Amino acid sequence: MSEPNSLVANQTRASKYLERFTQGVVPHVINGERVVSLAGRTFETLDPTTNARQCTVAAGDAADVDKAARAAADAFRIWRDVSGQKRRAILHAIADAIEARADEIALIESSDTGQPIRYMAKAALRGAENFRFYADRAPGAADGQSLPDADHINYTMRQPIGPVGVITPWNTPFMLSTWKIAPALAAGCTVVHKPAEWSPLSAVVLTEIMDEVIRAHGGPPGVVNLVHGLGESAGRALTEHDAIKAVAFVGETTTGSHIMRQGAATLKRVHFELGGKNPVIVFNDADLDRALDAVLFMIYSLNGERCTSSSRALVQQAIYQTFAAKAAERVAAIKVGHPLDPATEIGPLIHPRHAEKVLSYPALARAAGATVATGGGRACDGAGNYVEPTLFTHAANDMRIAQEEIFGPVLTMIPFSDEAEAVRIANDVRYGLTGYIWTRDVGRAHRVARDLEAGMVWVNSENVRHLPTPFGGVKNSGIGRDGGDYSFDFYMETKNIAIAYDSHKIPRVGL
Ligand code: NAD
Repeated sequence: MSEPNSLVANQTRASKYLERFTQGVVPHVINGERVVSLAGRTFETLDPTTNARQCTVAAGDAADVDKAARAAADAFRIWRDVSGQKRRAILHAIADAIEARADEIALIESSDTGQPIRYMAKAALRGAENFRFYADRAPGAADGQSLPDADHINYTMRQPIGPVGVITPWNTPFMLSTWKIAPALAAGCTVVHKPAEWSPLSAVVLTEIMDEVIRAHGGPPGVVNLVHGLGESAGRALTEHDAIKAVAFVGETTTGSHIMRQGAATLKRVHFELGGKNPVIVFNDADLDRALDAVLFMIYSLNGERCTSSSRALVQQAIYQTFAAKAAERVAAIKVGHPLDPATEIGPLIHPRHAEKVLSYPALARAAGATVATGGGRACDGAGNYVEPTLFTHAANDMRIAQEEIFGPVLTMIPFSDEAEAVRIANDVRYGLTGYIWTRDVGRAHRVARDLEAGMVWVNSENVRHLPTPFGGVKNSGIGRDGGDYSFDFYMETKNIAIAYDSHKIPRVGL
């Protein structure tokens, strides 16, 4: 008998959960119904461990998006008036349902994306936590201010902006989708979600859960709708649709600028969480063992397919050789393997095209004069998108390996001399999502944190997400902030209402 969470046991449960997706066409969920595309078009997804066909998925276009947007607009007229207390109960019930199906969600997500099951189990539970967090904020979402002047009582209220589009990428899709959709529902918005075409499955489970719970509580169909499809068709149509009042997008920087253009005609409000090339700065005085753990975790966990990864390690010269040597030893020992194996630390990358992109960088590194200290090739000898965890050392910041988001298990290590040079190198990229600082000097920690061009900075820590805090990037890494009430700033409009205390005391107006 195999262990309950062994590779074999996980594969058995995963194929049971995947059966309904692998047998038929993976459907859209529009107005509470599982449907194929109006035009009947489909696309295929691949099993990242073999690159054999895994699923056939409904490919939505403008007509499907229109149907979903109309359903969301109809549902909005009811959902916006559901009380905050009732929305709180509904969002908690969604969290309960996610927790009850966490094993299924984790195994589906891992099979769809190639990300190791050890992380996907946590990501499923984080999805539930996102709903709980916004459940508790729903009753206060509409709260405003009282701003009296001499003649009027002014007060503000927040109201949901309307039906919104949510467009998500293929990395940790379940966690990211819940992070976007939970505050939208808490605010009173309805949703049309377009998940990434390389990883569409967990979105179906999520939409089914939300729709079932909302309707079990007496809500209408169409509060949450799911349309699969390619970015240029379904994604584009969603960003152009007049009934969709705002688009929350997570993905690449270049896609963000396409969406901005596409949404211009309808003056779409946009929220962007984009790419990063995040520096982790390790000073001579740092706790080096702890820093090394954090640097490696932030780039090699989740296959390196993580926006907040520590993809550029800037290490001070006096400790550079030792730090790089220890890192190379640890990186070479990372276990690459099947994503459903609990021992696996790095699974296959999502797609053969992505693996090819990641595998193009070692040659670029060598040509530019950097050292491939370890890795740089394919792993596991088979089909599938397995790549070796890779470390580039002796890099310079103007090399492509230091400027471009590789989005795989690849770390670029760059030496620096002093604090000023560390900050200069850290900021010398087009991105500005996160930064990490390792030092025992408190003053330096504050100075460097202040000077880093980044939306979020962690000092002597890896990325630990505290949900009330603002999350987002500067420069080419994003527009807007998520988290806490910051998400409501995006999903809600603020209205001011002024009432005169006594209209007779206000000077009469006349023409
Ligand atoms: P991507 O931009 O290629 O695709 C993201 C989504 O946008 C997909 O659903 C895709 O179909 C859709 N899309 C593509 N073209 C579109 C268009 N013209 N109009 C509308 N939608 C369109 O990104 P990806 O490769 O799926 O994801 C990886 C990227 O996401 C990386 O750059 C990563 O850094 C970024 N990311 C950022 C964060 C963050 O919080 N800042 C989090 C996760 C991922």
